[in-house]
Amino acid sequence: MFYDLIIRNARLEDGDMPVDIGMKDGNILVIGTIASGGPEHSGQTEIDAGNKLVIPGFVNSHTHLDKADLLSRMRPDQFGGTLDENRRLIREFKENYTIPGMKERAGNVVREMVRQGTTAIRTQVDIDLTAKLLPLTAICELKEEYDGIVDMEICAFPQEGVLKPGTRELLEEALTPTDHRLKGGADLLGGLPLVEKTGEEQKRHINILFEIAKKHDRGLEVQIDESNDPEDFMLPYLAQKTIEEGYEGRVSATHCISLSKVCDETARETIEKVKEAGINIIVTPSCNLITNFPDRQGFRPYNSITRVKDLVENGINVAMGTDNIRDIFYPLGNGSMIREMHVLATTTRMSGIEDIAHLLSIASLNGARIMGLDYGVVIGRRADLLVTNSATKRGVISGQEIIPYVVKNGRVVSQSQLTVESLHA
Ligand SMILES: [Zn+2]
Repeated sequence: MFYDLIIRNARLEDGDMPVDIGMKDGNILVIGTIASGGPEHSGQTEIDAGNKLVIPGFVNSHTHLDKADLLSRMRPDQFGGTLDENRRLIREFKENYTIPGMKERAGNVVREMVRQGTTAIRTQVDIDLTAKLLPLTAICELKEEYDGIVDMEICAFPQEGVLKPGTRELLEEALTPTDHRLKGGADLLGGLPLVEKTGEEQKRHINILFEIAKKHDRGLEVQIDESNDPEDFMLPYLAQKTIEEGYEGRVSATHCISLSKVCDETARETIEKVKEAGINIIVTPSCNLITNFPDRQGFRPYNSITRVKDLVENGINVAMGTDNIRDIFYPLGNGSMIREMHVLATTTRMSGIEDIAHLLSIASLNGARIMGLDYGVVIGRRADLLVTNSATKRGVISGQEIIPYVVKNGRVVSQSQLTVESLHA
């Protein structure tokens, strides 16, 4: 039993001849033909991909596990509120959070994600004066419990802003905890400038983020420009500030929806700046599109999505996340990255052959790059792989959301199959 795991008859690209993949100690050791018979040619476990595509695991680059599945705790009269009502409601929930309750909700959603092929997650965790560090404690425990099944990176997210007295201290404690229950604490710092009232305050918010991130030597992920209102356009400032602070390559910007609303010339200049700053862009297609701004005057109140195709064509690293799953801000979702790719393809009209390849990278390799994971079906890389249900990339996106085998660190962590009891013509 030389290999820990062998996947036989795996197709790596559309139309390629199938190969075998041998894995040992969590890495890909061989891609080619592994003869049968003899201990040096066998694996502790062997699975048959059946000539279907084997691809790198999905990376959910942006979600909110602390709020995941809050819908299961909501009464019927709490649905469909305005933004203000929802903010009050989330505060009410936060006042009553418990660590076991949060771990139960979040754990259920993590298992849903893994079953559907997610091998790495970057989650936001609210850090604010209401729930304080309880959500971080719960998610840090969860991260430890799921070690070896899914990689988790935790982003300390100031949902209520950073200008209120006491918030900054709380964020710093989240990044470098003195309380042992917080384990290593949060891995990086999040941001949400839009929650501050004026443009000047939003810039101050960004400035403070850089101060904290630099002090603790951490990366940044800023949720920015969440509406398609060209007045809410902080991305150029974030890019400028990233360059001024020497933080190139260490910042991600999530949403960036206003970029779709500004004129082509401004968009082109901004994308150039984003490139110079080495900023990664993270899109969350379903969540981006569902947001409604009924009180905004002068433009359609429905939201949009950033210029994904332009960004990709200009060499920007674009990744993707599901964002909220079944909570007050997004009442649907099941953690499926295939479903998100479908929404992304549809809303960005990315349906050509090259587009399909880009979509799969957006859902996997590009997110892995942000998280510093060595992904790819390549010898020597981490064996975080999916045996899919289709022989083509397009088929992976438009087929059933079933991942027959999810492999994490060279070990099968999930096995699923499509069962049809009966089908009548
Ligand atoms: Zn989010």
